[in-house]
Order: sequence, then structure tokens, then C-alpha cells
Amino acid sequence: EQVDFTNLFQHTIERFEFNKTEKIEFVRHLPEEEVWVWIDKDKMTQVLDNIISNAIKYSPEGGTITFTVDVMKQQQKLVVKISDEGVGIPDEKLNKIFERFYRVDKARSRNLGGTGLGLAISREMIEAHGGNIWAESKEGEGTTVLFTLPLMSQSRGDEE
Ligand code: ATP
Ligand code: MG
Repeated sequence: EQVDFTNLFQHTIERFEFNKTEKIEFVRHLPEEEVWVWIDKDKMTQVLDNIISNAIKYSPEGGTITFTVDVMKQQQKLVVKISDEGVGIPDEKLNKIFERFYRVDKARSRNLGGTGLGLAISREMIEAHGGNIWAESKEGEGTTVLFTLPLMSQSRGDEE
């Protein structure tokens, strides 16, 4: 279905902001305008839920989570970034976290709960929507999970 991504993202962020018990600050860099994408809303919500709950799970007390949406009109895509100031992920493991059941620190992850499926499912869903997903990180400084989605092409009448 046709979805305004800005709106969906904003509502998802608000839901986490309302429910969180941790002392974490949320910062948003979202477009002013509507950003139309053709997506399965429930599946995209699942992807966002997983990435945001990871960011919260691995954030320190008092940390900041930054939510960014960049619209790349030329490339007909949007780039979504969710950054935290958490423990980070070693370089050689950045790709592995998208594999099924993979967890970086087994002992720590066990305490924090989960199965290690969240990001594997997220990658499947983003790729099914024609996008890419990856992570960037610096150990001890934080992690950014990024994904792209194709923008809906404008109807002919809208083009300049
Ligand atoms: P589930 O999502 O199934 O509840 P999970 O959160 O452990 O379990 P994934 O979401 O797939 O599984 O994440 C895989 C692993 O990647 C995590 O166990 C964790 O080690 C690492 N990871 C994911 N996000 C972050 C993050 N923001 N900061 C640090 N490590 C992360
Ligand atoms: Mg997870």
C-alpha cells in the first residue's frame, strides 16, 4: 500500500518514546514533507520496531538515539538511519548481525533477551521492498543501522 514514511516513522518513534522506562533521549531529523513509499505497513513497522528496540536495548543510561530520514530525489530513494551511543559492534561482525540467530556477545545478549532473529527478518523484509540494510559502528561509541527504500515515482502530472 501507499504509505507516508515520515508519518509511519514518527508514530513508531512516539510509541517507543511514550513507553520507554529507560533514560534515553530521542532526537529526530525527519523531512517536513510527506515521503511516499509503496510498502507493507505491518512488515515495515516490524522492521522499525526491531531496530529501535535494539538501539534502546544496547544504549547506556542517558544515551541519545537519533532518527534520520534523508530523501535522495535524484536516486529515487530514501535513507533511514537509527543511531545509538551504545556498546557498538566490532567491524568483522557488522555483517553477521543480519544472519539468523547471530548475536555478538552471547552472554550479554542472553541477559538482554531475544533470539537473534530480529535483524535477519528485517533484512529479508527490506530486500523484499527493494531496499538495502546495513550497519556502521564504532566499538564503545555506538551503532547506526541504515536502510534504503525506493521512493514512489511521481505521477506524470506532478513532474516539472
Ligand atoms: P531479537 O531481535 O530476536 O529479539 P536480538 O535483538 O538479539 O534478538 P537481532 O535484532 O537480530 O537479535 O540482533 C542481532 C545481534 O546484533 C544482537 O544480539 C546484538 O548482539 C547485535 N546488535 C543489534 N543491534 C545492536 C545495537 N544497536 N548495538 C549493539 N549491538 C547490536
Ligand atoms: Mg533485536
